[in-house]
Amino acid sequence: MNIRLFKPCVGKEELNAIKEIFNISWLGLGEKVYEFEKKWSEFIGCKDSIGVTSDTAALHLALAVFKFPKGKKVLVPAMTFASTATAVHYNDLEPVFVDCNEGTLGIDLEDLERKIDKDCVAVIPVHFGGHPVPMDQLMDIAQKYNLKVVEDCAHTQGGEYKGKKLGTWGDIGCFSFEEKKGMTTGDGGMICSNNKELIAPLRAMRWVGIDKDTWKRKSGYTQNKSDTKHWYYEISMLGYKYNMNNLAASIGLEQLKKLNWINEAKRKAIGIYLNGIKDIDDIKPLLPYDINTNSSYWIFGVRTKNRDDLILHLKKHGIATSVHYTPLPLHPFWKNHKEPIPVSLKVYERIVTLPLFPEISRDQIEYVIKILKQFCK
Ligand SMILES: *Cc1c(COP(=O)(O)O)cnc(C)c1O
Repeated sequence: MNIRLFKPCVGKEELNAIKEIFNISWLGLGEKVYEFEKKWSEFIGCKDSIGVTSDTAALHLALAVFKFPKGKKVLVPAMTFASTATAVHYNDLEPVFVDCNEGTLGIDLEDLERKIDKDCVAVIPVHFGGHPVPMDQLMDIAQKYNLKVVEDCAHTQGGEYKGKKLGTWGDIGCFSFEEKKGMTTGDGGMICSNNKELIAPLRAMRWVGIDKDTWKRKSGYTQNKSDTKHWYYEISMLGYKYNMNNLAASIGLEQLKKLNWINEAKRKAIGIYLNGIKDIDDIKPLLPYDINTNSSYWIFGVRTKNRDDLILHLKKHGIATSVHYTPLPLHPFWKNHKEPIPVSLKVYERIVTLPLFPEISRDQIEYVIKILKQFCK
């Protein structure tokens, strides 16, 4: 048996949606993007959303909106994907790496407060693996030290904390629709906020700085006014080519309809895993999985003393694995960062990610459990 680590849940609904875009022959930025943004805002419960090409782009623009002076610092978890920190560099700012909480692997709030200094202007919490950062406590700290909060929600689409959707707690929430993430548009991302004015400039910034987009120019053109200067636009800021397109948005609209089911299917799969591993010595769940609420988990993983051997054993039996993540300061690019992150360094040695996707079967999970048991004997 060969079991993949991730598998997007796409089918005929998405194919039909793409077909419709082919039929109207408008593949770029257009009405499907606006429709997806609107539906996403309704789903998350925020005032406005802006579709972009990736979460990396979303994080880049979200920080840019605050116009922080060059060289200021942004607190980011050490245990995250590179983009959380590279977005800081794109804005000529400097990341400060914060250790993880040993239980949740999310940003540790005590270490966060320890590492704040007068140059810190923002913090980017990541809901690691989909497990929520205690956002009420984080927001209190942010308020106390006057930090802006950008939530990196790449690991959760629809997850909640205390009944409020993740991505709506901070000033701005950023989502990923990359193909391995909870729901996908191939590649894609979303910027969300309850402060419409705050993120308003990002509509131009995602479109090379153009203050009205091609679709609106086309609608102006078709209004049949001979004096409509449909070709006219202004650039009043430095922008990027980060817009979501109709093809991606049409897939996203279908994925959004399936999202509650996707999250539920993954909670069920996690339940089977948890039950299967509970009696295995030296195999502990990666996270304190809470599968009885509206959670939206991205990965299932375990912690073990013999991580590297376990990975080889699973590989031999056709089971894909990964490690999320190598703490960022271990990468050569960040070698000058000496912030202490003892918990991340310790946990890193023991973690392994196992196959999890909405359509994973009970048989597949039970096979993984069997191989885990075999290894531990
Ligand atoms: C995947 C991921 C990103 C980047 O998402 P893209 O849409 O691929 O740019 C950013 N942050 C975290 C925590 C991620 O896991």
